[in-house]
Amino acid sequence: MITVQEAEQIINRHTIQLQSEEVPLQQAAGRILEEQVLADRDFPPFNRVTMDGIAVKFSDLENGIKVFNIAGIQAAGVAPMSIDQPGQALEVMTGAVMPEGTDTVIPYELISISENDKKATVVEALTTKGKNVHYKGSDRPQGSVILKSGTVIGAAEIGVAATVGKSTLSVRKAPKVAIVSTGDELVPIDQNPLPHQIRSSNAATLVTCLKDWAIEPGVYHLGDDLQGTTSTLKSLIDTYQILILSGGVSKGKFDYVPQALGSIQVKKDFHRIKQRPGKPLWFGTHESGTIVFAFPGNPVSSFMCFHRYLKPWLQRCMGLSVPVMQAVLTDTIYFKPALTYFAQVKISLEKGILYAQPVEGHGSGDLANLADADGFIELPAAKTRFLKGENYPIYPFRSKI
Ligand code: AMP
Ligand code: MG
Repeated sequence: MITVQEAEQIINRHTIQLQSEEVPLQQAAGRILEEQVLADRDFPPFNRVTMDGIAVKFSDLENGIKVFNIAGIQAAGVAPMSIDQPGQALEVMTGAVMPEGTDTVIPYELISISENDKKATVVEALTTKGKNVHYKGSDRPQGSVILKSGTVIGAAEIGVAATVGKSTLSVRKAPKVAIVSTGDELVPIDQNPLPHQIRSSNAATLVTCLKDWAIEPGVYHLGDDLQGTTSTLKSLIDTYQILILSGGVSKGKFDYVPQALGSIQVKKDFHRIKQRPGKPLWFGTHESGTIVFAFPGNPVSSFMCFHRYLKPWLQRCMGLSVPVMQAVLTDTIYFKPALTYFAQVKISLEKGILYAQPVEGHGSGDLANLADADGFIELPAAKTRFLKGENYPIYPFRSKI
C-alpha cells in the first residue's frame, strides 16, 4: 500500500492533453479560455458623459459665466451635437457622447433649470476641467489584451467578451469521460429497490461533480460478472480519455474490476492507499492514453476520492493552479489506525480564518452524512490525536461557501 502523497505523485505524472474548441459565448462559463481577447476599439470608445446634467466649455466657467442658454439635449445613443457660442450649454444624459465644443459636465445637482427649460443657472461651480467625462481610451486602448489565455471564464469574462463583440470563444475542450458504476445490487434511481437492493447514487453524484468542469460524461452500469465487465471496459477504453469506475475494486469474490482492467492491458499504477475512507482506490493507464480511476463503491469513499485525487488532477490537466486550503480544527479528533484520515467537516469562515468542525458519521457507507458536511479535512497517518486549534489541509466539496 502506498501513502496519499505517493498516490498523488503517481497520478500527477499522467496528465492528459486537451485540445481546443469554439463554443457559443453563453456556453463558455466555467471553461478555460484558449485565446487572447483584444479590445476591438478604445475603452470607452468615445468621450462618455458619466452624469446627467449640462455639458459646457470650462473656460466659460473660468470667465465667470453662471447662467447658460440650453441649446438642446444630447441623449445616449445619438451622434454628437455641437455648440460654438460662449454661454451655451447642452443638456446631456449619462452614456451620451460629449457634444462637440464642450469639455465639462455640471450635474443637475449643482444647477437649477428655468421653468421653460431654456436656462441653467450654476448653483455651485466646478473647479476642474473635464469633470464627469470618461475619456476615450482611458481604460484600455484599442488592441490591448483584455482577457488572457488560460483564464477561467466567469460572468465577468463573458461580459468583457460580449462588449468586444465575441459571440463565440475558443476554449479548452472538455475531456471525454465515462462513469461506470458496478454492482448487482444496484437499481436505477427511478426504480423501487427490492429489500436486498439499493439505488445507484454514485453516478448521479459524479455527474454533478463533473458539471463544474463542463464535462458531460457517458454513464454506464455493469453487473458483477467478469466477462461482461471486461468486454464493456474494452470498448470504453477506445472511446473515452478518462474512465471513472465505482465499486468492484475491494477484496470481495465478485470484485472483478482490477482483473478485467488487467486483461485488457490497462497498466496498474497502484491499488490501495493508506487512507480512510477510500482505501481500495485503483489507478491505471492504458497505452492509448486513457486514464482509469477506479473508486471503491462506498458513496463517501468515491466522493472523497473524487475531491482528493481526480478533481485536482483535472485542474492540472486544464492548466489551472491547484491551491490547497487549510482550516483550524474546532474539536480534537482521535484516530488510531496508521492511515491518513479524511474526516468530514463543516467549514466556516470567521475573521478571515477557516474553521473545520468535525461532523461525525457512521463511516463510508453513511451517504446522508455528506449532506451535513462541507468538505474533508486530511489528518496525517503519522499521528493519532489531532488537537483542537491545529491546522490541516481541507478539501471542500461545496462551491458556495
Ligand atoms: P464495492 O466497492 O463494490 O464493494 O461496494 C461497496 C459498497 O458501496 C456496497 O455496499 C455497495 O452496495 C455500495 N455501492 C457500490 N456502488 C454504488 C453506487 N453506484 N451507488 C451507491 N452505492 C454503491
Ligand atoms: Mg460491488
